[in-house]
Amino acid sequence: MKVLKFGGSSLADAERYLRVKDITMACHTESGAAIVLSAPKGVTNALSLLCDEAASGKDYGELFAKLNMVLFGILDDLQTNLPNFKSANLAEFIQNTLNELNQHLEGFALLRCAPEQVVAKILSIGEYVSVNIFSEILNAVGQENSIIDPVGHIIAEGEYLDSICDVSASKARFEDVDSSGKQVLIMPGFVAVNEAGEKVTLGRNGSDYSAAILAACIDAECCEIWTDVDGVYNADPNQVEGAVLLDKLTYQEAMELSYFGAKVLHPKTIGPIAQHHIPCLIRNTLNPAAPGTLISNEASTKWTSVKGISHLDDMTMFNVAGPGMKGMVGMASRVFEVMSNANISISLITQSSSEYSISFCIHSKDAGRAQDLLEDSFALELSNHLLDPIEVRHDLAIVTLVGDGMRHSKGLAAKFFSSLSQARVNNVAIAQGSSERSISTVIEANKAKKAVKIVHQNFFSSLHSIDAFLVGCGTVGKEFLGQVARQQAALLERNIKLNVYGIANSKKLLLDQNGIDLNNGWDQALQQSDKTLSVETLKDFVHANSLVNPVLIDCTSSTVIAEQYPDMMENGFHVVTPNKKANTASTEFYQLLRDTVQTTNRQFLYETTVGAGLPVIENLQKLFYAGDELTKFEGILSGSLSFVFGKLDEGLSLSEATNIAKQNGFTEPDPRDDLSGMDVARKLLIMAREAGLTLELDDIQIESVLPGSFDASGSIDEFMAKLPELDSLVAQRIEAAKQEGKVLRYVGSINQGKCVVNIQAVNDKHPLYPVKDGENALAIHSHYYQPIPYVIRGYGAGAAVTAAGVFADVMRTMPWKQS
Ligand code: ADP
Ligand code: ASP
Ligand code: MG
Repeated sequence: MKVLKFGGSSLADAERYLRVKDITMACHTESGAAIVLSAPKGVTNALSLLCDEAASGKDYGELFAKLNMVLFGILDDLQTNLPNFKSANLAEFIQNTLNELNQHLEGFALLRCAPEQVVAKILSIGEYVSVNIFSEILNAVGQENSIIDPVGHIIAEGEYLDSICDVSASKARFEDVDSSGKQVLIMPGFVAVNEAGEKVTLGRNGSDYSAAILAACIDAECCEIWTDVDGVYNADPNQVEGAVLLDKLTYQEAMELSYFGAKVLHPKTIGPIAQHHIPCLIRNTLNPAAPGTLISNEASTKWTSVKGISHLDDMTMFNVAGPGMKGMVGMASRVFEVMSNANISISLITQSSSEYSISFCIHSKDAGRAQDLLEDSFALELSNHLLDPIEVRHDLAIVTLVGDGMRHSKGLAAKFFSSLSQARVNNVAIAQGSSERSISTVIEANKAKKAVKIVHQNFFSSLHSIDAFLVGCGTVGKEFLGQVARQQAALLERNIKLNVYGIANSKKLLLDQNGIDLNNGWDQALQQSDKTLSVETLKDFVHANSLVNPVLIDCTSSTVIAEQYPDMMENGFHVVTPNKKANTASTEFYQLLRDTVQTTNRQFLYETTVGAGLPVIENLQKLFYAGDELTKFEGILSGSLSFVFGKLDEGLSLSEATNIAKQNGFTEPDPRDDLSGMDVARKLLIMAREAGLTLELDDIQIESVLPGSFDASGSIDEFMAKLPELDSLVAQRIEAAKQEGKVLRYVGSINQGKCVVNIQAVNDKHPLYPVKDGENALAIHSHYYQPIPYVIRGYGAGAAVTAAGVFADVMRTMPWKQS
């Protein structure tokens, strides 16, 4: 005979009860079936809440009516969909049960408390309703069946709401049960009886345990736990994208995983089945064809080292420490005795080897009680300062890596902890079982999901994620989004998930937790958004969605945004930008940025600030890492001015050339930034600082294309309208140069620590003579590159190349992939 347990997730509505019937019938025909049922989905939660609300004097009428509706709703639907289904007796049973429930709740409301022995009765209502519904379903299809009441069969001891079964005493009670396989046996899960004959429950989620007990009691050949996922995965598949289904687990592995939070199986389940060597299969009611995960003595041959990762929330850690601890014999046992006498279960223990302190974690619900009890028990030691005041840390979680084969593999702990550091998680305490089957770390609860996700990514998945947030949707920003939209699918094929979760302009912020659909009206959605950009909003969003690799992409030219980079990095964001403002702010801020990169372990990438798509910064850095030094630099650093000056050679006027450059997206949004020389000066400063010079923007000598006498004020349009006033002046200079066989070029140079930006007339022998049409050329003279300089040349402006450069930097933020 097989035991089949169906959890609440398999019993959400009439349609699911009928699926359960089909699975039962198929199994029963083959090998005989004993069925353990949970309450319909959500019913135990509702019952528990009703008890709490009644006892605290709240109005529970609405919740009660909802429960009524759920239960009778299932009946009505079965009546409609299942021929021969008789609902009359069942309806009466449910009605009586609800009436009785109401009386108890009224009592709680009067007493303003809910005694646990009554709560146990109430919580079990859902399971009793469930088995009665199922029995009528089997009657309707002519299947003989009988309900086993756990009261009278499943003997347990301990707390009313968290009892432990005495399996051998229970087994003796099963002698009268017909397990020949003729009739289908049905038993409510979660329920047992104590020595006093009172109904108790086996702890929340305890129906799995009931199934294991029943399997042991009737010597079942197999215990199948049917739920809403295909089996046990290496992380919760509902929380971790890409979680992998495991084919097999040993009992011990299943125990560790469930103990440390894998809710798919209640940890108490393993005891009875392991002891009686009963194989256990985890299967999916919604996908019965899937083979499921086998839990037995057999280890997987497919997954041999780390099996999974799980986490436990709602943890509180106590630290008992003090100068008197050392040498105080029996301290640990006294601490733990206090806990065990109060029936408080300890999830994790660590002790410093100096014997100076003991730390342990318990469920937060027991924390207040535990603190009072410890302070009472150690009152003497506390008052004599042999112990320090007991330290209590709330809001913690335990993250655990599990696998039998871990003891044979090296470097797992290192990989585990470096993954946590990548998620910027601080370890409060660490514990490793001496079996080496698990490593656990205690961390802040709000980081748990992110930690699980990133550890999972590093251990099990080849999928990397880049979680992008774009600020600034001008030409470059828009082009970047277009490139991302075109590349997303191809990147995914290479296991890179690049999602843009946020887009902001100066007024609005659009966020989408599923990643913004870049092909479908994001600009309209942005306009309609009521959010605005702030570090806090982005940080909260990243946190709420447990994003592991957030990248801020600043495509504005805003100083205000640039000033926020350190804050963004402190909050876990990498920063990628073509915006020159941050690197050309004060030396102090420049240094702060570098320090923040170091302390936060985040990346700050700005390759596109100097040569747009050209690899300038990276190459300079490589040279300087290798000990090279800059001796001289000369170059055309402005794509827009390269374009404009090229057009001047061809006979266009300054205003005509500037207009065309602007229309082609070659200029900064405000062409004055280019013509004033300020943009080139900023680029030069960035290079100079990269080369180790300590300079401020003011130290750069700039010759503007716009003479001092020219009034360049007003709006961009006003300025463009006025620009022709300069045409003749510039034309004269061009003509003068031409007489000498020369052309004008706008050149930035660094020489002996001095930075100069000016208009130079160069002849056809000069290397910058042919550089025009938007091209940049950089000649780097260094100790290693002499007398012929290191030259970088190519288009240094334009939305496509700049966005591609930004894209390349974004890809560089990908976390270090561990082997
Ligand atoms: P049931 O109602 O059938 O008892 P539960 O909700 O108690 O179902 O357990 C199933 C859920 O356990 C799954 O939906 C899944 O979200 C969660 N879960 C947590 N960890 C794991 C894991 N490692 N493998 C599979 N499921 C897991
Ligand atoms: N119905 C109970 C609960 O929700 C037991 C179970 O489903 O396992 O906790
Ligand atoms: Mg469950």
